[in-house]
Amino acid sequence: MRRCPLCHDQHSSLFHQDKKRITYICDRCKLVFSDASSHLPPAVEKRRYQQQASKNQKQLKQFLISLVLQCEQQTHLPLTGLNFGRVAEAQTVLNIESRHHTLKQYDPYFAADHDLLKRQYDFICCYRVFEHFRSPLKEWSLLGNLLKPGGWLAINTKLLTDLSAFDKWHHKNNLTHVSFYQRSTFEFLAQEAGFKLLFAANDLILVQKPSGSDIKRGQSSHDDV
Ligand SMILES: [Zn+2]
Repeated sequence: MRRCPLCHDQHSSLFHQDKKRITYICDRCKLVFSDASSHLPPAVEKRRYQQQASKNQKQLKQFLISLVLQCEQQTHLPLTGLNFGRVAEAQTVLNIESRHHTLKQYDPYFAADHDLLKRQYDFICCYRVFEHFRSPLKEWSLLGNLLKPGGWLAINTKLLTDLSAFDKWHHKNNLTHVSFYQRSTFEFLAQEAGFKLLFAANDLILVQKPSGSDIKRGQSSHDDV
């Protein structure tokens, strides 16, 4: 039994084992996660990311631009967005800024500007990032706080759709991939946070934080003052 790194439930069971590592599945949020002892050392992980930095740039650009176009349908105001966890090329940022929006980029290894994590954004893009989260609860909470009320979080990660085919799923063979989500995992997360799960199929998960008027106000803890 292992504590789930996403919902912190203690009830997980052994899910899969191969030569390289053991994975568990959480009874509560249905996250499949690898045993922490199999996580790569940070220096090795960083080197792998460095080698792969130029990969998937075209797809990341398409993903970001289609997200911006979708946001533009909701508002005519300039948007401020955050690309979290995988740095896009300068040309992609220029493309978005030519539409009068602002795009900031944060990456823990290659663009670790922590000031960017003290603001709020109209949209956040996480392109092939969630599968790398070792502490997904921490990251999920952070992303929720970084969203403005009414803001969108667009996630691209390969959803685990067939538990019985995990053994043959090549996505799990990359040892930097440590967290695997099912659609029900995102349903759980959205419900817990009070967010709207707008879409969760194929590789795209789209979540919206409720706008100010939708947010139920918590009770004041200072009513004795
Ligand atoms: Zn869990």
